[in-house]
Amino acid sequence: YGPGPVPHAEVRVDLAAIRDNVAELAVRSAPAQVMTVVKGDAYGHGLVPAARAAKAGGAGWLGTATLAEALALRAAGVGGRVMAWLNAPGERWADALAAEVDVSASAPWAVAEIAAAAREVGRTARVHLKADTGMGRAGAPLADWPTLVDDALKAQAEGLIEVVGLWSHLARADEPGEPANASQLAAFRDAVELAESRGVRPEVRHLANSAATLTMRSAHFDLVRPGLASYGLSPVPRQVAPGDVGLRPAMSVRARLALVKRVPAGQGVSYGHHYVTDRESSLGLVPLGYADGVPRHASGGTAGPGAPVLIRGVTRRIAGRVCMDQFVVDLRDDDVRAGDEVVLFGDAAAGEPTAQDWADATGTISYEIVTRFAPRLPRVYV
Ligand code: PLP
Repeated sequence: YGPGPVPHAEVRVDLAAIRDNVAELAVRSAPAQVMTVVKGDAYGHGLVPAARAAKAGGAGWLGTATLAEALALRAAGVGGRVMAWLNAPGERWADALAAEVDVSASAPWAVAEIAAAAREVGRTARVHLKADTGMGRAGAPLADWPTLVDDALKAQAEGLIEVVGLWSHLARADEPGEPANASQLAAFRDAVELAESRGVRPEVRHLANSAATLTMRSAHFDLVRPGLASYGLSPVPRQVAPGDVGLRPAMSVRARLALVKRVPAGQGVSYGHHYVTDRESSLGLVPLGYADGVPRHASGGTAGPGAPVLIRGVTRRIAGRVCMDQFVVDLRDDDVRAGDEVVLFGDAAAGEPTAQDWADATGTISYEIVTRFAPRLPRVYV
């Protein structure tokens, strides 16, 4: 099957789509810079190839959660600004410094540890101070913000750190117009003002994820941090379809039918017989299962229809339970045979089901659909 090492299924990634999506987001966000978020193996698209495509599209920055992800970028020779925001006491700060990775501090212990590492290594750390403006996750609570800022300024005066960023994250940006967004925006402005009044001169202030990049211009500041939209998916699918804003999905998941067979009416299908044929029918076997990242919640049967797949131009639904390595589709009387292509999801413009359709069918978000495909499924870059 194509150039992949496994002949029957693949995750196909269109790197030109990532490049073009990033370029589109850059145009929409200018003059703000773009940090393409490549954590989680670039949302399942492949860390290094996706990062390179994002840079080709004009991303001046790359964002990761873990330091290990950022270091993997450096090990692959990816240059430019990289920020890793998730850390814990005892982090490998010296490695971050050596690799020139920007880091985040949400609490005084982080500033102290980063400064100690900088002293030891003899380099200045680039630090983004994070305020919790209402997400209730990482970031200093606003009551602790002045202490964090003052600690950072002390370390900066010693030449150990440079406060290059002030930042925060929105909890409800995927609900445009939700009052929590305005209140987080106001809290962020206050936090920036306080830090700047004490002498911080940040290179970048940043708040916006994909949803805010697409729907909340007031949240753009100096830098936007889109993840999902870079891969051609929308965090606000009811309000903004990817195609409406010039984005196209980069990932499709494809397989070949492993078996097609005729069965009588009343045939129970897959574990538990949760699907039973209502007439004589053809069943198609798709060689992908939950060990590959197909959600078991994509199963179809008495509890509801399964997730959609496209075979020879016809959308069919998963019949019965998704197994570890395979699932079944009821093909009725479709003229199909073993070896025919099955598209789980891809591009709506090509008539294919979308990652969003799969999210809707499985009670999750498109983020989880694309990030969960397993390493045993080859990524094929086109
Ligand atoms: N910024 C931070 C801190 C994040 O954790 C994430 C991802 O959850 C993003 C930006 C990108 O979010 P999205 O994929 O919704 O654009």
